[in-house]
Amino acid sequence: MPRGRRGAARIAMAAALGALRGLLAAAGPAPRNARPRWCLSPPGTRLFRQSCRRPAGPRSSPEPGRGGLPEGVEYIPTRKKGKNPMKPVGVAWYSLYTRTRLGYLFYQRQVRKARERYPHGHSVSQPCCFPGVKILPIPVLSNNYSYLVIDTSSGRAAAIDPSDPLAVQAAIEKEGVTLEAIFCTHKHWDHSGGNAELCQQHSSCKVYGSALDSIPDLTSPLTDREKVSVGCLTFQALATPGHTVGHMVYVLDGEPFGGPPCLFSGDLLFLSGCGRLFEGSAETMLASLDLAMGLGEDTLLWPGHEYALECLTFASFLELDNPALDQKWQWVMQQRQEKRITCPSTLGEEQTYNPFLRTHRPELHAVLGLQQGAGEHPDAFRARVLKEVRRRKDLYKAP
Ligand SMILES: [Zn+2]
Repeated sequence: MPRGRRGAARIAMAAALGALRGLLAAAGPAPRNARPRWCLSPPGTRLFRQSCRRPAGPRSSPEPGRGGLPEGVEYIPTRKKGKNPMKPVGVAWYSLYTRTRLGYLFYQRQVRKARERYPHGHSVSQPCCFPGVKILPIPVLSNNYSYLVIDTSSGRAAAIDPSDPLAVQAAIEKEGVTLEAIFCTHKHWDHSGGNAELCQQHSSCKVYGSALDSIPDLTSPLTDREKVSVGCLTFQALATPGHTVGHMVYVLDGEPFGGPPCLFSGDLLFLSGCGRLFEGSAETMLASLDLAMGLGEDTLLWPGHEYALECLTFASFLELDNPALDQKWQWVMQQRQEKRITCPSTLGEEQTYNPFLRTHRPELHAVLGLQQGAGEHPDAFRARVLKEVRRRKDLYKAP
């Protein structure tokens, strides 16, 4: 290619990556056995149709069909007028990121830059141990978390969202464990990018996830509520669409080791935040959040990103007089000053400050200037509240 054209191409690529970075910059808990309020799933929840075609990654999943969708969920075309919450330019960039090699190149650049900037990870991590189980958060990229979950009696382990394979492999070697399973919450490269390399190094390792999400190197597609055992550990997959069409969260059963359930939430739920609505409506996301909240107050939340300070600061603009929020903000501020991780929180405490889980609260309605319409179903109203909180979060720029 002539030098001039090559330079122009480089500039175009840099501009595309810059726009993608902006788009993806903001991809962030309710009582145990408190199902009655949280488990209401609105019928006819909708998702946006999207292609599963991915040039990078040796296997491609089948086009999503109605057969594998959770009950009550239907697809609607991506560009159906008035349905897609993203702006047209956002839709275009998102398509580039998820459907073309540009997305993979962007991910590789992210990994390279993060390794240079944070040679020891973006945060100081510490393991969480229960009798027979060790959960090790691994800080990767600039704000992601992968997790290594170890059955300490057998030395068998599972990795959740291993986006930087070098960092996850280092943890596997340090712990001296056998990687048996990768649980992938969704297809985005910052959650799935390490699958291929880890599978090459661990030939018996299976990659679990939803077939609806075209996850690279997926070997074992899971359906909603399906369970997988790794040594003595049992994980259950829950379909939680909204951020992507095939987003899944994984719940580690705490009973065998006398601990609480552990929710690996990917980009469904963060400390004081929730994921962006890239491929679903507010109704879909609300149903997914309600499902997660049904796990119970003592459930530990292990999110896919370290967004706590930004999300709590945003929440504090919505709720000026919330002591639980103030207290958590102070604690998180202190943690982040020392670059310490802020997970896990519990779903019970999340419900006291996370605005995306407080769509039923009158004080939030008042701040947003929203009122339930006459005859409007409570869940339809809560979806409207969620949509408005999400819209404001998307516009919010962290100081
Ligand atoms: Zn994502």
